[in-house]
Amino acid sequence: MKHKKVKIGQAQVDYFFDSNLTSLSRITDKKSTILVTDEHLVTAHPQKFSSWKTIVLKPGEKYKTQATVDDIVSQLIGLEADRNTTLVGVGGGVVTDLTGYLASVYMRGIRFGFVPTSILALVDASIGGKNGVDVGVFKNIVGTIRQPSFLLHDHRLLASLPEMEWINGFAEIIKHACIRDAAMFRELEDHSIPFFQRNKKALADLIRRNTLLKTKVVQLDEFEKNERRLLNFGHTLGHALENQYNLTHGQAVAIGMVFASRMSEKITGFRQAERVGRLIENYQLPTAISYDRDKVFEVLKMDKKRARKEMNYVLLQKIGKGVVHSLPLDYLRSQL
Ligand code: NAD
Repeated sequence: MKHKKVKIGQAQVDYFFDSNLTSLSRITDKKSTILVTDEHLVTAHPQKFSSWKTIVLKPGEKYKTQATVDDIVSQLIGLEADRNTTLVGVGGGVVTDLTGYLASVYMRGIRFGFVPTSILALVDASIGGKNGVDVGVFKNIVGTIRQPSFLLHDHRLLASLPEMEWINGFAEIIKHACIRDAAMFRELEDHSIPFFQRNKKALADLIRRNTLLKTKVVQLDEFEKNERRLLNFGHTLGHALENQYNLTHGQAVAIGMVFASRMSEKITGFRQAERVGRLIENYQLPTAISYDRDKVFEVLKMDKKRARKEMNYVLLQKIGKGVVHSLPLDYLRSQL
């Protein structure tokens, strides 16, 4: 088990890379630990959960709500969870976001950790301490920022991850490469999802690299004042498209990244939008869809990154270097 201690703000987080869920009992005492997971994970890996107290959620974003939180709180009370209890979220980003939030508010805060099981949760959602729930169409509108005590990676769990979720997760890996890691961008160009599915070592290296990349960004800026904003590359248009056009998150972000790359060519002198588009296509993601400009702009302008009549937009200066530019809303609308 490869272990690394990471400091984020005041918190210390233990990262256990390339580990095994069976090693969890070495990190946290079984008697005082409760796992939170979803039905897909328990169905695919029943033996991994059999000796732990486990709360099993219905899978999917539509259950990332306060109602689910209330339900879990009742179950925690039933299990006599107290201030010494540790909660461990074993699942995709929905499970980790919910578990982090619950652990932040249950009895005003208890210890928690994550075993992320989707590519997206491994390289993104489990890192950085943002957690919370959705209210109606407003994603992550309620939540806290609180770091987990540990992350444990067990890549064997990926054996059951649906193909579409691999593709979704790679959209975030491509995002990381675009904003901060030109060498990783080139490595991605040389390979494909099937390559990483076959080569466990290459996959483990890629996940570790992405985990550390996001960690570094969060360490520089835990509360999203500067550097952390770069992680929104592709997400401003992406979020505006996601709910309205029945796209997955990865597909919507992919289209957003191509749009931002093209706009970068006009604003920063970036010259490689074609290359970004090609990589996205190679990872089975779309580069464009036709959409209703007015409808999309209405949602886009409500983005959290807006300040009065300007929007902080993440662009590329070159591959591996993201930059934030403040763009007038009128200009943005004209580019859609
Ligand atoms: P998810 O948790 O819904 O998982 C996607 C699907 O894959 C679900 O059906 C889940 O049951 C299934 N699944 C996950 N791992 C599996 C496995 N190993 N085997 C079989 N099935 C498996 O979604 P996600 O894509 O992992 O995460 C998306 C969520 O993450 C969103 O709610 C988003 O807001 C959040 N997120 C949070 C952050 C953050 O910083 N906190 C960052 C990015 C995304």
